[in-house]
Amino acid sequence: MSKPILIDPLKFAREGRSLSGLMPVGELDERVHSDLSDTSGEVSYQFEGFRDELQRYALRIRLDAQLNVTCQRCLDGMPFSLNTDSVLTLFTSQEKLDEACELDEGLDAVLAEAELDVTALIEDEIIMGLPHSPKHDECGRDTLSLAKADKPNPFAVLAALKRPKSE
Ligand SMILES: [Zn+2]
Repeated sequence: MSKPILIDPLKFAREGRSLSGLMPVGELDERVHSDLSDTSGEVSYQFEGFRDELQRYALRIRLDAQLNVTCQRCLDGMPFSLNTDSVLTLFTSQEKLDEACELDEGLDAVLAEAELDVTALIEDEIIMGLPHSPKHDECGRDTLSLAKADKPNPFAVLAALKRPKSE
């Protein structure tokens, strides 16, 4: 179960506030865990409230995490660096939101409720940021080289060494 972190999104954006921290992957919801091969590590998150060029209130959400996803070919774990940078534009009425989305198809819009759960947003961002069908370049070999090429995590390397190779 994930603990909610609640903010008032409009106030957060109006006051140009920011919020950052580390969230253990293990504390995120099951819907995130089901896409991962293990729940080790932490997600570094950064939220910023601001007013965009159209004077709309918005939240910028940035995530950075070393995750382990499941290779869809050999079902072994593989490291994945998640880096997301998104903007969520806040609207106070469904009408305004629909209108804005019609003008800008790429707009990520949300109705501003009195309370917004930051943890749920982080979970949504992770799910959207994960590869749909991750596969090793070469199964049985690349777990190690990927782990080395990226920020080395000695435990991941050790786990990869210990894990029996299956094709
Ligand atoms: Zn594989």
